[in-house]
Amino acid sequence: MVKIYLGPAGVPLSSKKRNTIDGIRTVKELGLNAMEVEFVQGVKMKPESAEEAGKIAEELGVRLSVHAPYFVNLCSNEREKVEASKARIFDTADRAERMKADAIAIHIAFYGKLSPEECYQQVKSELGEVVDKARSQGIKNVKFGVETMAKDTAFGTLDEVVSISKEIKGVIPYIDWAHTFARQGGRIDYGEIIDRLKRELGLTHINSHFESLVFRNGKYVDEHLPIENDAPPFKPLAEELVKREDLSITLICESPELEKDALKMKKVLEELGYKFT
Ligand SMILES: [Zn+2]
Repeated sequence: MVKIYLGPAGVPLSSKKRNTIDGIRTVKELGLNAMEVEFVQGVKMKPESAEEAGKIAEELGVRLSVHAPYFVNLCSNEREKVEASKARIFDTADRAERMKADAIAIHIAFYGKLSPEECYQQVKSELGEVVDKARSQGIKNVKFGVETMAKDTAFGTLDEVVSISKEIKGVIPYIDWAHTFARQGGRIDYGEIIDRLKRELGLTHINSHFESLVFRNGKYVDEHLPIENDAPPFKPLAEELVKREDLSITLICESPELEKDALKMKKVLEELGYKFT
């Protein structure tokens, strides 16, 4: 049977105190079992706080992952921005390792003036350096997740993230199901993607985001909506998951409704016979 870790992107909205540790406790109280810690505005958490959060999460059985800052672009044409991006990725990985989070999500680059192929080569070399530095400084376990992106201007097609994951040890695809759905013109075959990750990368655990997107001017755009409008549909993903063996997945709900929608997803999975323990 598949093992599912489900929870919100960040401290639940219903958590009275707005810090990571109280967020983890609220996740547990809600009957969820995962949380993504959001460093999207910068890595401000102290190393000791990360270790403390990791202990609490472990005690409560809440699986942690971490989102790196949005201000990352490994294909910027300004060298200092590339270096600042690398430092942000490194710091995110450091705190994540201390939290015993399994993976970090990174919006890795915009093509900018580069061709997708040139950008790919630059991501490969810059990210490779960050991973090497991290591994040489004791950040041994956390995986560097390159997120699939919705916008045509961003590095992050499924092909790109799969390919870069083959080339750099320690790098994995961080699947945003809705982004991939949008990037593919409003189509997605969940089963095929899960099969591909297993076949080409040997992945037995998938890190992922789920939310709904706005449809505007004939296409899906990267604005997150509550999960209700089948953009993309959640039920087919749930159906794919519950029939799998030898697979685990982290499903992070990135809808504006956070835990409310994570609980909706939980209900769908339970109706299909999945039991959260
Ligand atoms: Zn993201």
